[in-house]
Amino acid sequence: MSVLDSIREMVQKAKSILIITHENPDGDAVGSSLGFMHGLLKLEKEVDVFIPKVNKMFSFLPGFDLIKNELPEDASYDLCVALDSSDLERLAEGRKWFEKIENTIVIDHHITNQNFGDANYVNAVASSTCQNIIVVLAAMEVAINKDMATCIYTGMLTDTGGFRYNVQTETFEFAGMMMEAGVNIAEIYRNVFDLTTEARTRLLGRALSRLEILENGRVAFTYVTADDWNEFGNQDGDHENIVNYGRNIEGVEVSIMLREKDGQYKVSLRSNDYVDVSIIASKYAGGGHLRASGFAVPGPLEQAKETVLAEIKKQLKD
Ligand code: 5GP
Ligand code: MN
Repeated sequence: MSVLDSIREMVQKAKSILIITHENPDGDAVGSSLGFMHGLLKLEKEVDVFIPKVNKMFSFLPGFDLIKNELPEDASYDLCVALDSSDLERLAEGRKWFEKIENTIVIDHHITNQNFGDANYVNAVASSTCQNIIVVLAAMEVAINKDMATCIYTGMLTDTGGFRYNVQTETFEFAGMMMEAGVNIAEIYRNVFDLTTEARTRLLGRALSRLEILENGRVAFTYVTADDWNEFGNQDGDHENIVNYGRNIEGVEVSIMLREKDGQYKVSLRSNDYVDVSIIASKYAGGGHLRASGFAVPGPLEQAKETVLAEIKKQLKD
């Protein structure tokens, strides 16, 4: 039996389904969760989407208000679906539910995925988890409506950086299908790439004021602290785009952004041409893709910076 057949059967059998995703959820995480939720609701399932902290920038997505930030301890579900997450740790608070619920499905597109579900639909060639959701919904014979399409298109758009990376001809075919289902292309673009908040803009300003260019112009480095975060009143995910400013500088191969969180530093790495940043992330129990990855290292700041720089230097060419 194919994975898609198993998934269809598991969904058919389940009455109540819990959808979870990774912490610090991005457009693909929130989009795939809500897109899949709308699909399962069409199949008349009882569905909860559990995301403890989610950035309000996604409030334009249909169903955003249905997201549960907490669940009662005694809640129970027949099936748990983990989206856009390469491993159990990545699920953070969602992990205990994934471990508690008897039947589990993983749908993802990370090359580092550990196939930790009972059924795992992991297509690492796909642009986004949202793109894989289209395939899964098709296998379940759910027709994609405007609400589903809006959520799905959002994840495809954000995970490809506006249809730049991880794009296959299929990505455009699927995006075209979402357009046929009625999504408002301009409105989604504005919501995810243009619209911002004062707090987000101030955090970016702080990070840019600290930008360092190292290793003969090949590495860009910056960081934000927990104090910055509190000072501006930032929400989870507000740092998302900062690392790209370093990557966009002429001559830079790798951009590093450190973010102080719970006494350690979350690292975001982006490369341009040849450094495989997923190798570095795997070494530190993180994950991601060839040109974009993330993981955590212990502080203090200088130590964290040295640890990451040392790993990058191993791959830098003269
Ligand atoms: P970002 O730098 O935007 O946080 O993450 C870049 C990529 O690495 C994304 O695909 C994200 O899912 C992945 N990633 C970031 N942090 C972690 C982590 O701690 N664990 C895993 N497995 N993947 C991560
Ligand atoms: Mn993704």
